[in-house]
Amino acid sequence: MTSNNETLFARAQQSTPGGVNSPVRAFRSVGGTPRFITRAEGPYFWDADDKRYIDYIGSWGPAIVGHAHPDVVRAVQDAAVRGLSFGAPTEAEIEMAELICRLVPSIEQVRLVSSGTEAAMSALRLARGATGRDLIVKFEGCYHGHADALLVKAGSGLLTFGNPTSAGVPEDFAKHTLVLDYNDAQQLEDTFRDMGERIACVIVEPVAGNMNLLRATPEFLQTMRRLCTQHGAVLIFDEVMSGFRVALGGAQSLYGIQPDLTVLGKVIGGGLPVAAFGGRANLMKHLAPLGGVYQAGTLSGNPVTVAAGLATLALIQAPGFYDRLAAQTTKLVQGLSTAAQDSGVPFCADAVGGMFGLYFAPQLPVSHATMMECDKEAFNRFFHAILDAGVYLAPSAFEAGFVSAQHDDAVIADTLTAARKAFAVVAG
Ligand code: PLP
Repeated sequence: MTSNNETLFARAQQSTPGGVNSPVRAFRSVGGTPRFITRAEGPYFWDADDKRYIDYIGSWGPAIVGHAHPDVVRAVQDAAVRGLSFGAPTEAEIEMAELICRLVPSIEQVRLVSSGTEAAMSALRLARGATGRDLIVKFEGCYHGHADALLVKAGSGLLTFGNPTSAGVPEDFAKHTLVLDYNDAQQLEDTFRDMGERIACVIVEPVAGNMNLLRATPEFLQTMRRLCTQHGAVLIFDEVMSGFRVALGGAQSLYGIQPDLTVLGKVIGGGLPVAAFGGRANLMKHLAPLGGVYQAGTLSGNPVTVAAGLATLALIQAPGFYDRLAAQTTKLVQGLSTAAQDSGVPFCADAVGGMFGLYFAPQLPVSHATMMECDKEAFNRFFHAILDAGVYLAPSAFEAGFVSAQHDDAVIADTLTAARKAFAVVAG
């Protein structure tokens, strides 16, 4: 019998390339039919066949307080009736900017945009404009959205497709991007020694989440900070994923390192399109209308999306929020590790705050290269088995997972019951 998901997928492919509006949703990496979602609440969502799943992608990070939280929904409704978009400033945008500056102290000034891609792209332009240099440094396996300069051996969906660069990015653009190995401090030293005076910026995910979860070593980030300062390059932390996810102050608060610019997204919109970039005021002053670096947006700081963001940021500031989130995430990964051990499947897992990684490998990966050694086929079998049992993981072996404040002990226990069945399938 054809399921509603299959019917919708067949129909979607007629009008939309690959049937989806963002590639990883297509299940190309894991095979099978994408689930079409009809509604979500708390830690769950339901597909077009009315099957319920425990959701561990949370819209790829934003749904940190759980889906359809009443406070967030009410804030959106209240804002919507006052008007959807003005194209003129509002007080809520000031509140959002003030809050971000207070919660992430390296940010003295911030500008709101509508997507992480836009924020990262704008941060690069600002770094280049402020330094008068062209070269940017990024790291293999880090994803910063799909701006041309950053689609140079980018990770995530592209990695899944085994395609090191995107068609349509001119060689002339790509040649300004240096792609180095994550966690290789020596290579960074060598690169700065050879061309430090030409490097505008280094952009990095301080906790990487787009090649599965990979922690930066403190030495790697400290070396990066020192070299950028020495050579007058701008250090950009892309915290679109890790910001307000691994800790209230982001990964930079965990490592005690202040970047010059920070890129934010996901959680700050609470499920609606809000992203931001910000940092030192003496860099931000280069932006139009004050300076010569142009950047703009019709829907930037939109009143409805900002209302969702403010309501979400209010909830995550509750005392103990991140302790509880990290505790639940730890329970999940420890439970999964035990279940895997009992089944004899080579597996390990890691978590930082409310973000986790699952690795079908005997040891935790420490680099992009060791990450690529994980058993993708084992992940794919596990993915489908646990999906059948009602748990929705990211449909790729190279993506991180996300826990929300609504994933209570009962939800984690149900997940672990499903996981035991799925590990048994992998074990054969
Ligand atoms: N930077 C990082 C670290 C991300 O994880 C993502 C998206 O997953 C982006 C940038 C791009 O954000 P968006 O998808 O909102 O354009």
